[in-house]
Amino acid sequence: MSAQRKFDGIWFEPAPWVNGEYVRSDATRLITNPAKGSKLAEVQFATPQIATEAINGAVVAQRAWKEVSAFERGNILKTIAAKLTEQKEKLATLLTAEQGKPYWQSLGEIDYAASFFQWYGEEARRISGRIGSHPQNDREFFIEHLPIGVVGWITPWNFPLAQGAKKIAAALAAGCTGVWKPAESTPLIALAMAPLFRSAGVPDGVVQIIPGEGPQIGSVMIEHPEVRCVSLTGSKATGSKLMAGAASQIKRVSLELGGNAPFIILPDADLDFTVDQLVQLKLFVTGQVCVTANRIFVPDVLHEQFIDRLISKLESSKVEDGLNDSSQNRVDAGPLIHSQACVGVDALVDDACKNGAKVAYRYAFGRGDRSKGEGSFYAPTVLSHVVDDMRISKGEIFGPVFAIHTYRTVDEVIQRANSVSQGLAGYVYGTDLSDCRRVARKLDVGIVGVNEWRPLKAEIPFGGIKESGIGSEGGIEGLSEYLRLRVISLPKD
Ligand code: ADP
Repeated sequence: MSAQRKFDGIWFEPAPWVNGEYVRSDATRLITNPAKGSKLAEVQFATPQIATEAINGAVVAQRAWKEVSAFERGNILKTIAAKLTEQKEKLATLLTAEQGKPYWQSLGEIDYAASFFQWYGEEARRISGRIGSHPQNDREFFIEHLPIGVVGWITPWNFPLAQGAKKIAAALAAGCTGVWKPAESTPLIALAMAPLFRSAGVPDGVVQIIPGEGPQIGSVMIEHPEVRCVSLTGSKATGSKLMAGAASQIKRVSLELGGNAPFIILPDADLDFTVDQLVQLKLFVTGQVCVTANRIFVPDVLHEQFIDRLISKLESSKVEDGLNDSSQNRVDAGPLIHSQACVGVDALVDDACKNGAKVAYRYAFGRGDRSKGEGSFYAPTVLSHVVDDMRISKGEIFGPVFAIHTYRTVDEVIQRANSVSQGLAGYVYGTDLSDCRRVARKLDVGIVGVNEWRPLKAEIPFGGIKESGIGSEGGIEGLSEYLRLRVISLPKD
C-alpha cells in the first residue's frame, strides 16, 4: 500500500481504488504541474490484472447496487453533490495544480460536477417503464428500464472531474456500476473522489477508479465480457478504436469526441458583447475544450473593427499560473496541459501562416511564468485571413488561438460552418433573434449557443453528430446510455 498523500487538506492515495481500498501497483507515472513543469505526485498505474480485478469487483457490486431502491441511489448521488460543494476549495486547488486551469475555473468545474450528481440524484427515481396496450385484447406487455450492467468510463484531462461526474452520475442513477479510467496526466482529482464517494454512501466496488494507460486499460474493458458499455470522452482516434473493438462482443459505446465549432457573428451583432463572450469562451481552459470556438466567422465588412476590439480585450487578459488566481488577481487562462501541446498548436499556426494567414496579435508575457522558462504556456494569438482548407480549420486547435475567417452572406457561412466532418457545438451571435434562430436551426451540430458561450448544463442533453460522437450526456436523455429495455408480453388475468 502506498503512503497516504495530503494535497491541501485532502487525503487520498495516488494508487488504484478497487473494492473500497487503494491497491498497490509497481507501474508508476510522474504527474507534473503544467504551470511549473514540477513534480506533483508519483501515481501508481493499474496493470491489466488490476483492471480485470476492478471489473470483476464491479460485476459483484452491481448485483447488489441494482437492487438498491432508485430513491436511495438518488439520495447517495445528492450526498455526493453536497460533499463536493463542502470540499470545493480544497478540490479546486488540487484540480488547478494538476490541470493548470485558473482556480476560479476549477471551482466552477466542481460546481458543474456537483450539478450532475444533483440532477441525476433527482432523476433516478423517475426512471420508470410502462404497460403497453397489446393488439390482442387478451394480452398486455410490460416495458421495464433496467441497468445495462458494468460500464467502463474513460475520461480526458481537460475536465478531469466533470467528465467523470457526467458519466458516473447517470450510470449510478440507472443502477449500473463501473470502472473509471481518468486521463494519464490528470488522475489525482479522480483518486481524491474515492474517499468522498465512500463517505457519501457509495458501496465498495460500485465505482472503481483506476489510473492507467489508455490503450492497455481500454483493451481490458473491451475484452471483458461483463463490461456492457464503454463511455469515452476523448479523441476521434480513440473513439474509432473502441468502437471497432466493441463490435466483437456487440458492446454499447457512448462517445463524446472532438468538435470544430463555428462561432458565427451575424452582421447586426453587438460587437462589444460578442467579443467579450468569445474571449471568455476561447480562454476557458486555455482553449482546450471540445466545444470551444474553432472557426470564428466575421462578416467581411466588420473584420477590422472586430479584430481591433478583440486585440484590446486580449491585451487586458492575464495568462499565468492558475494557482495565482484570486479575487484580487483574476487569471483568465493558465498553461496548456504539457509542452507537447504547445508544439502541436504552434505547428497549426505555422502551417496556417505558410498558407496565407497572418498573426494579427500575440499576447506578450510580461515577467510572468513563461519568461522564467517554466510551464507549458502558449501565448493567446489572433490569426486573420484564415481559410477553410487550412489544417487549422479542419480539426480542433486545442489552444488559445483565435482563427478568424470572413464571410459575405449568411447562406455562405452556414454552408461553410457545416462543411467539416465534426458536428459538436456551434455559436450564433446577433441582435435579431429570429435571424439567430434561423441560422442555429441550420447548423449540423449537437448543441448551439445563441448569444451564450457556455450552453452546457446538467439539465441539457449534449452529444455530437457526424464524427463528434454517439449518444448524449446530461438531461433525462443521458440516462438512456445506461439503460436497456426488457419487455414481457403476457396474458391478462
Ligand atoms: P486526447 O487527445 O484528448 O488526450 P485521447 O482519446 O487520447 O484524447 O484520450 C482520452 C482518454 O482516452 C484518456 O483517458 C486516454 O487514456 C484514453 N485512451 C487513449 N487511447 C485509448 C485506447 N486505445 N483505448 C482506450 N482508451 C484510450
